[in-house]
Amino acid sequence: MGSDRIPESRRRRVRRRAPLVPTECVHPACCQPIWDVDPHTYLCRMHALFAWSGVQAAIKSARIPDPTTVSPTGGWIYYLRVADQIKVGYASHLGDRMKAYPPNAELLACHPGTRKDEQEIHSLLSAHRVAGREWYRPHPEVVDRIEAARAKHGAPIDPFLQRRSA
Ligand SMILES: [Zn+2]
Repeated sequence: MGSDRIPESRRRRVRRRAPLVPTECVHPACCQPIWDVDPHTYLCRMHALFAWSGVQAAIKSARIPDPTTVSPTGGWIYYLRVADQIKVGYASHLGDRMKAYPPNAELLACHPGTRKDEQEIHSLLSAHRVAGREWYRPHPEVVDRIEAARAKHGAPIDPFLQRRSA
């Protein structure tokens, strides 16, 4: 590795000299002043607006499921991670159900589904079950299923974001 040849003392000096917080837009080759709308976003007004329109387009095309909306099947299948275990569950109101989990939980995927769908998934994944009926270890078969759900339905809006930052 090239960086291994730089003595540790010199690397420390270089790191110390770099400003802790950017004072200009971090977009490549832009040095406009930062638009002061968010204390941790270091973009000028123009590049912030570019980023915003990109995010809006991504949300639109990904059809990100909003867990606060009503499911067309009457319920939701959800995949949730707490530490190194994954829960696969069914909820008629996903927003309410998420309140039962700690703020370090992560909603990995969700999509409209029924209790019958949930039972099918549980029997397919039964070899990877850990303590409790609906908890699984992150075996590749479990992870693949979640990836497929995210590819088909989009990444869900994080219902824990507000509680984590509160
Ligand atoms: Zn800029």
